[in-house]
Amino acid sequence: MSAIPPPNRKPDLPPTKLFINNEWVNAVSGKTFETHNPTNGEVIAHMAEADAADVDIAVAAAREAFELGSEWRTMDASRRGLLLHRLADLIERDRAYLASLETLDNGKPYGDAYAADLALTINTYRYFSGWAGKKHGQTIPIDGDHFAYTRLEPVGVCGQIIPWNFPLAMQAWKLAPALAMGNTIVMKTAEQTPLTANHIAALVKEAGFPPGVVNILSGYGPTAGGAIATHDGVDKVAFTGSTEIGQLIHTMATGNLKRVTLELGGKSPNVVFGDCDFDYAVEKSHFALFFNQGQCCCAGSRLYVEESIYDRFVEASVERAKKRKVGDPFELGVEQGPQVSQEQVDKITELCKSGTKEGAKLALGGAQLGDEGYFFQPTVFADVKDDMRIANEEIFGPVMQIMKFKDIDEVIARGNKNMYGLAASVFTTNLEKAIKVAHELRAGTVYVNAYDVFDPAAPFGGFKMSGCGRELGEFGLEQYTEKKTVIIKTQQKNS
Ligand code: NAD
Repeated sequence: MSAIPPPNRKPDLPPTKLFINNEWVNAVSGKTFETHNPTNGEVIAHMAEADAADVDIAVAAAREAFELGSEWRTMDASRRGLLLHRLADLIERDRAYLASLETLDNGKPYGDAYAADLALTINTYRYFSGWAGKKHGQTIPIDGDHFAYTRLEPVGVCGQIIPWNFPLAMQAWKLAPALAMGNTIVMKTAEQTPLTANHIAALVKEAGFPPGVVNILSGYGPTAGGAIATHDGVDKVAFTGSTEIGQLIHTMATGNLKRVTLELGGKSPNVVFGDCDFDYAVEKSHFALFFNQGQCCCAGSRLYVEESIYDRFVEASVERAKKRKVGDPFELGVEQGPQVSQEQVDKITELCKSGTKEGAKLALGGAQLGDEGYFFQPTVFADVKDDMRIANEEIFGPVMQIMKFKDIDEVIARGNKNMYGLAASVFTTNLEKAIKVAHELRAGTVYVNAYDVFDPAAPFGGFKMSGCGRELGEFGLEQYTEKKTVIIKTQQKNS
C-alpha cells in the first residue's frame, strides 16, 4: 500500500440528522444527543435522536422502496452491483477524511483506521458488488411432468443494528450483502460513534441508490434499536454487539418471526505451543489482544501457553506490552488510543480489580491512564485460572490474560469450556497439532500462526453464544435471501 496521507485533525462534520428517503430530517421529537471525542471527552456534535416514531417513518420509506414495481425492485441486479461499486469508489475518494472522522469519534489510531478499517470497508463493498448479478437459483429435476426452479429473492426490509468498535466495517458488512441481494434497510448506528455512518449515507445518495433503499438512524439501543427489533414492518434483523443484547433482540424479533442473524461477544482461546516460532508468537499474541484498544469481539483474550515456555513467554509479553505506544490517536506510529467511553474504562477497571482479588498476578498496568480522555494502561495478568472472571468474561479492553497448560487434549477441553465460540488460534510449527486444534476447538474462525485476518470472501460468525448466522462470503449473502421454489406443470417431461 502507498504511504498513508496525513490525517485531518479537524474534519468537517457530516450531517447530524436522520437519513430517511435520501433526505436529512430531524427526529420527530426534536431531541438530540451528544457524541464525544474519547481523546479529551469534548462534545463533537449533537446528533438527531431517533425514537420509535422515526423508526416507523424509516420503515415506511423502506417498505415503499421495496414495493413491487418500484425503481429498486425493477432494477437489474447488475446495476445494483454497479451502484455498490460506485459507493466503494466514493469511499476510496474520501478515505483519509473518513479515517480522520473515525479517529475523532471512536479514538482508534488514524493509521489503523486508514489502513485496516477503510481497507476492509472498501473491499467489502467491492466484493459484494461482484456478487449482485451472480448469486442465483437452480433448476431441479423433480419427479413427474413438472419443471421446478428456485429463485433467490430479497428478504425485504432489513433492520440492522451496529456497534461502535468498527463502525465503518460493521456498516459495510451489513449494508453490502443486503443491497447486493436487493433488500432495503433501516440501520441504527451506535450512539458512541454515529458520524462516519452519516457520511456513508451521503455517499449512498451520491452513488445513485433510490430513495428509501438505505435509511440510517442515530439513536439509543432500548428506544430506536428496540423499535427496529420489534417492528412488524421489518422482515429481518441483523445485530452485532454484546451477547446480552443479542439474546434480547432474538426474543424481541419473535413477534413476526423475523429472520435473525447475530454476531456477538467472544472470549477466544489463543493456544501457544512450546514448538512455536517464539518471537513471532509473542508479537502475534500481543496483536491478537491489543489491536483496536482490545475492543475486538474476536480478541485472543484467553492466552494458553505451554508449560515449557510459559515463564519466558510471560516475560516477553510484558516487555512487549511495556513498549506499546499509547497516546494521541492522530499521531502516526501510535499503537493505542483511548477506549471509546468512560463507561468502558470503568468496566475494564472493575474487571481488573476482580482479577487481582481472585489471585491472578498483575504483571503490568491495571488502571486508567492520565486524567484526560478515556485511556487505559496496557495490562497483563499472569497465572490466571480458568474459573476467574477475567478468564471468562469479555473485557473489551487492553488486558491480556495468560494461562499455563500441559498437553494438547487438556488445552482443547479448557478452550471449549466457555459459553462463547467466535474465534480461536494456535501457534505451532507442528502441522498435526495445528490441524487437531483447529478442528476440535468450537469456534467460527480458527487462525493458525495468524490472527485477525479478515477478508470479505471469508465467512465470519460464532458458534454457541457468539451468535447465529454468518457475515461475509457467499454464506453471508445467503442470510439476505429467501429461497422460493417454483413448480410448473408441463405437458411432458423429457430427460
Ligand atoms: P451493546 O450490545 O449494548 O450495543 C450494540 C448495539 O446495540 C448498539 O447500537 C446499541 O445501541 C444497541 N442496543 C443496545 N441495547 C439495545 C436494545 N435493548 N435493543 C436494541 N438495540 C440495542 O454493546 P455496548 O453497550 O456498546 O458494549 C457493551 C459490551 O458489548 C462491550 O463491553 C463488549 O463486551 C460488547 N461488544 C461486543 C461487540 C462485538 O463486536 N461483538 C461490539 C461492541 C460491544
